[in-house]
Amino acid sequence: MKAATIFSEHVERENYRLFVVLNFVSYVGFLAHLLFITLFLWINLNFLAIFNVFSVSAWLAAYLLNRHGRHVEAVLLVSIEVFSHAIVATYFLGWDSGFHYYFMPFVLFVFINHKQSLLMLWAQVFTVFCVYLWLLINTSGAAYQIVVDSDVIESFQFLNIAVNFLAIGLLGYGLRSSSVRAEWEMEQLAIRDSLTGLYNRRKMQEMIELEQVRLQRSAKTSVLVISDIDLFKTVNDRYGHDSGDYVLKEISALMRSVLRQQDILSRWGGEEFTMLLPETDVAGARQVIEMLREVVATHTFKHNKEQIPVTMTFGMALLDGRQSIEGVLRQADQLLYKGKEQGRNCIVTLLEVNPEY
Ligand code: GH3
Ligand code: MG
Ligand code: MG
Repeated sequence: MKAATIFSEHVERENYRLFVVLNFVSYVGFLAHLLFITLFLWINLNFLAIFNVFSVSAWLAAYLLNRHGRHVEAVLLVSIEVFSHAIVATYFLGWDSGFHYYFMPFVLFVFINHKQSLLMLWAQVFTVFCVYLWLLINTSGAAYQIVVDSDVIESFQFLNIAVNFLAIGLLGYGLRSSSVRAEWEMEQLAIRDSLTGLYNRRKMQEMIELEQVRLQRSAKTSVLVISDIDLFKTVNDRYGHDSGDYVLKEISALMRSVLRQQDILSRWGGEEFTMLLPETDVAGARQVIEMLREVVATHTFKHNKEQIPVTMTFGMALLDGRQSIEGVLRQADQLLYKGKEQGRNCIVTLLEVNPEY
């Protein structure tokens, strides 16, 4: 996930793949052509050195266009540069110089652009294929258009092989990191509530089931808490639905900050939240939840310049691996209901209902 989070948050999801791939290949494109300028000047091929000044500028421009969200223009620029450079260099320095290798990653590169029709993409591939064959027939074994020492040609070939391995590797890496991020985002969409970012009910149920299986093989206990915002309908009615949403988000953040790392938190539905506090007994869980209750009750909720009083009520039940999950959830829910009856802004456990427990 790390590679995927390096990049700008401002890139829209649908352009992310283009952005990442272009960003990676721009570095290698820019540096390789800088190197070519030096080499061409060194062996007095000034014409090709000048051509590479265009190449370096094109890669730099593509990098900047990409960073500014103009991915399609960047792809076009890179495509023109790679295609023309491979033709010109192969034509003048001969097949053995290895500049034709660049047609291979180019084929992969054009398909990264999802903004063009498949027909256009295949047309490009076919054009590249034809040009490739034409160059093969006309430049292999033939005298070079520019007479250059064969050692120099061999050095170019090795350099081009190395740059191509790097370019294909980076194309692959770019594709990999963008697909890893896409998979991660899909997974998050499936397991999280979109308003608060907390786990959704389905994911929470899965986590509770896992915990239940774990508890069946140990003597430990965990605690399940169902909580509900008090008189939340009034918040919506009095301050508006947006303020209601703000309260839900703010409460979620407060819960996250108060609960411990190992505690699992979810939006159970509407203004209800469930918490799973692993390897805790009711007394231990009570301390944490009491802190949370107080934090919520004393926190200043302010939206649209209006202060909103907010409290929560909690029902708490023990999960020990023996009772059914449905039974424990029902019990927590009934205890929450008791809390509402007792006047809200409180925590209710079986202990309060039945002191002999
Ligand atoms: P109690 O203390 O008994 O729980 O009273 P309450 O008003 O909180 O309970 P009730 O179940 O009557 O109201 C819940 C309200 O929560 C009604 C519903 O419109 C609101 N609600 C549920 N989901 C959302 C949401 O995503 N955003 C907002 N703003 N309100 C929501
Ligand atoms: Mg409520
Ligand atoms: Mg409710």
